Amino acid sequence: MPILSKRSESFTESVIRRMTRISDEHQAINLSQGFPDFDPPRALIDSLHRVADAGPHQYAVTWGDPNFRNALAKKHEHFTGQVVNPLTELVVTCGSTEAMMCAMMTVCNPGDKVIVFSPFYENYGADAILSGAEPIFVPLVPPAFNFDPEVLENAFRQGPKAIVVCNPSNPTGKVFTRDELMIVADLAKRYDCFVITDEVYEHIVYAPHVHTYMCTLPGMKERTLVCNSLSKTYSITGWRLGYVIGPAHVIDAARKVHDFLTVGAPAPLQEAAVAGLTMPDSYYEDLCALYTRKRAVFCDGLERIGLTYTRPQGAYYVMIDVSEFAHAAGMRPDAMDDNRFCEWLASEIGVGAVPGSSFFREPVNHLIRMHFAKQESTLNAALERLDKLRTLR
Ligand code: GLN
Repeated sequence: MPILSKRSESFTESVIRRMTRISDEHQAINLSQGFPDFDPPRALIDSLHRVADAGPHQYAVTWGDPNFRNALAKKHEHFTGQVVNPLTELVVTCGSTEAMMCAMMTVCNPGDKVIVFSPFYENYGADAILSGAEPIFVPLVPPAFNFDPEVLENAFRQGPKAIVVCNPSNPTGKVFTRDELMIVADLAKRYDCFVITDEVYEHIVYAPHVHTYMCTLPGMKERTLVCNSLSKTYSITGWRLGYVIGPAHVIDAARKVHDFLTVGAPAPLQEAAVAGLTMPDSYYEDLCALYTRKRAVFCDGLERIGLTYTRPQGAYYVMIDVSEFAHAAGMRPDAMDDNRFCEWLASEIGVGAVPGSSFFREPVNHLIRMHFAKQESTLNAALERLDKLRTLR
């Protein structure tokens, strides 16, 4: 039989999806793959019912249904203060997963370098492989997950085509300050580099932290490709609706990449989602308040159990240091295997988590990621199970 492509053979199974599978096998409470176990807003469900009757049910315009694009452009303008031309500066994709893939394929030739902060959301590694780009990793150092501007500039000296900035960050929960983003922006301008942002958690930011849009910094609209999605903001991860916003000449190319990758995002769902994009500010305030409560329930619970963790500033993930439980899971603390640890946690404690090593380039094996996009009853049930850890130190 002919051999498979090097590209496909270099992939391992997504660790996040694998942990969902393992959690399900053990009937664990799955806090690994980040998605809500509660319904989207009623307005979206009602809208979906209407669209089921009235359509559209055939292809939308490949780069996005006009109503949906207009609503996206208005929402972006509302929150960033920047006007976006929905005819030329926006392309609708199948989730931000395709948005990021499409952005990288649009700007990178095989062999081009792309800066990625580590730890990073695992798809960026796969995106780099698929587009032939070579990642340069810049550490975000735990537990505060800050970067060293000198190390970052050294990465820029290698002549990257783009830098990926996930803000608020998955998996660290870091919200980049305006000053930090200014450092990135200044380097991007100085070294003539694109900035590809992943801002899917833009509305899940905990006071006093605030979300700064990279594209609003001086001179950055011209070189920023904003990747975003509706998954987290409207609790519709299964609808697979995302988009890229950027300068017209970049989007012109991105539309073609997108067209040949997927033709388009689901037409009925684009139409139905307009009802979400046109909701008032109070919707976003309520969403943030909801997650602020969930963060309190979950993090206060971790605190009561005495776990060591980094309280997130944004998004809905928590990195937890599990080194002290190595023995309980049958490992030497100096030879920790976080994959095995998470399997043990799912089977013996009944809670699913993602091994931190799947996000880090550096050899970090003592951190695991859990998420709290769950009903309070689910979070409390998980905390009750995690309480068993107390006796296993
Ligand atoms: N973004 C979510 C996470 O990090 C879901 C990832 C996925 O499976 N697409 O867990």
